[in-house]
Amino acid sequence: MNSTISKYLFYLPSTYLRGENVSRYLKFSRQFQYWDRDDISAFQLNSLRKLVNFAYENSLFYRKLYDENSVHPNDLKELKDFSNFPTVSKQDIVEHFSTIRTKCSYSPLVTHKTTGGSTGRAVTIIKNARALAHERAVTWRSYEWAGVTIGSPQARFWGIPLSQFNQRKYRLIDLVTNRQRFSAFDISPDSFQKFYEKLHRFRPQYLYGYVSVILQFVNFLDENDLTLPDSVASIITTSEILTETTRTRIGAVTGLKVYNEYGCGEVGSIAHECEQGNMHIMDESLYLEAQSKHHSSGSGSLLVSDFHNYAMPLIRYEVGDNAQLSNDQCSCGRTLSILKKIHGREYDTLYDSQFNPIHPEYVMYVFEEIKDTVGGIKQFQVLQHKDLSMEISLVKEENFLDQTERTLENKLKSKFGEGVKFNFRYVDTIRREASGKLRLVKSQVNT
Ligand SMILES: [Zn+2]
Repeated sequence: MNSTISKYLFYLPSTYLRGENVSRYLKFSRQFQYWDRDDISAFQLNSLRKLVNFAYENSLFYRKLYDENSVHPNDLKELKDFSNFPTVSKQDIVEHFSTIRTKCSYSPLVTHKTTGGSTGRAVTIIKNARALAHERAVTWRSYEWAGVTIGSPQARFWGIPLSQFNQRKYRLIDLVTNRQRFSAFDISPDSFQKFYEKLHRFRPQYLYGYVSVILQFVNFLDENDLTLPDSVASIITTSEILTETTRTRIGAVTGLKVYNEYGCGEVGSIAHECEQGNMHIMDESLYLEAQSKHHSSGSGSLLVSDFHNYAMPLIRYEVGDNAQLSNDQCSCGRTLSILKKIHGREYDTLYDSQFNPIHPEYVMYVFEEIKDTVGGIKQFQVLQHKDLSMEISLVKEENFLDQTERTLENKLKSKFGEGVKFNFRYVDTIRREASGKLRLVKSQVNT
């Protein structure tokens, strides 16, 4: 589809109907990226003060949290005062969902977002239309650095929902947003060949998706002496660590620049890479801190505060990744602050009985579907041993049904093959790694 048609006929009207004025915020973000640093800091302080005040007045959770920690919104006079406010964890969101949400969360225009994430625990966030519009606007503004605009045809390397209802829903979303999807759960030379042919008809302007899947597709092209259609001008990778080796490999085969994206389901885009290779932080929609135990290193656990989400305020929320912030100036001329060295988001690849790689997100989708239908699982972890057998650890909730184990096994077997053995373990808690991270999917196959 032509990108102008996609943008004006589908994308903007559909977001506008949901109360999201994406075009207005996009105009703002295009200017904001060149603001003076002092003005950006003033904007951020003002946004945080409004947010903290609102949360204190409208969320029982924050009122109690701040009272117990003897802090008050009036204490936030300068940005540096913000570090005195307590942090909020994923566990807090799960356990205090009903008291974190505010009166704004009952509007018909809010969106519920559930993220599986790498934490082993699904988190549901409610976002108001304005927050979602800002999230989309900063993302599109940043894609413009890669030469992409709203409606540009996209080849998407991503998961495909497992239920038919959700598959239909996503087909419609793909149509509206002008993209063709390659299933990260169906990787084989055959499926790559079909997608390759589809791309030559569809002529996307960019590739978008999981680092590992794009890398495998690029390897397929190289091994078979195939090239991307000349319409493709850039590649945007996301969700997994992009190593220098992978970046170089993708660049060498395709001749294209790779732009990395970093974000999380709860707030959306956190940082995007510019033409000069720096990861710029979305300073107009969030405040990012790296909380360090060792103050000198500058690297620490990332805390994010979403300026615009008044339905379910996230203030000093622990993202679960470590990174370093930088005060460097970027030669691209943008004044947005810079995120350096992100640690985390390392996925292990799983294998089916024929040794075909399976993207670990597949497992997340299976558990997500169980959660949406019968529920009863609080936390889970999947470990694949060298003999390909899988150990599934489950932390049950009260409403866990005995047949869920069979349902899970059947779903996983349909993907991994009858030859793979499944052992279920019921545990009180999922143990963290020595690094402190909770890893949801682990594999010993390549160790
Ligand atoms: Zn830059």
